[in-house]
Amino acid sequence: MKIICIGRNYAEHAKEMNAAVPSEPVFFLKPDTAIIKDNQAFYYPAFSTDIHHEVELVLKISKPGKNIGIDFAYKYYDEIGIGIDFTARDIQSKCKEKGLPWEKAKAFDGSAPLGKFINKEKIKDVNNINFSLKINNVLVQQGSTKDLLFSFDAVISYVSNFITLKTGDLIFTGTPSGVGPVKIGDILSASIENELLLNFEIK
Ligand code: MG
Repeated sequence: MKIICIGRNYAEHAKEMNAAVPSEPVFFLKPDTAIIKDNQAFYYPAFSTDIHHEVELVLKISKPGKNIGIDFAYKYYDEIGIGIDFTARDIQSKCKEKGLPWEKAKAFDGSAPLGKFINKEKIKDVNNINFSLKINNVLVQQGSTKDLLFSFDAVISYVSNFITLKTGDLIFTGTPSGVGPVKIGDILSASIENELLLNFEIK
């Protein structure tokens, strides 16, 4: 399986990164070794001193597809979860300066903690899902899919023009504003509509 991550999909986050609002989706990949499951701890890596949290809704692809039309894209995922797109911001800044790829900053081991998934049928309107991240019980990020620049369907359709989607692939759909650093000892708790789905410690 593969993990596809959408960058700059909320205008307020693009603004806080001093990045332009994109005219088409921006995406990058993480390997399966990025995944942390079952609320296991994230170990702060030695190569960075500025690991940032980015809370994101995650789509689980339910059947293979290529060149998926936007009107059919909803048929290609049946579960929605929440995860963290951990980013070594210090390394990413250097990559950006030099025009280099972001993998070192984005795709490292443990950079994609994943919470429990919810069946899509349980969600009233996928275009109006509220989600949030608390650190040590203080709210740091909250978002709603009504503010997405590119909807779930638009993202699935776009990515599938370049990369065949397979069952079990994951799409991180972008982070709202409020990203910031984490430190050892922090407890991160991520929720969809007040249902706690991910809860883990930075060690
Ligand atoms: Mg992200």
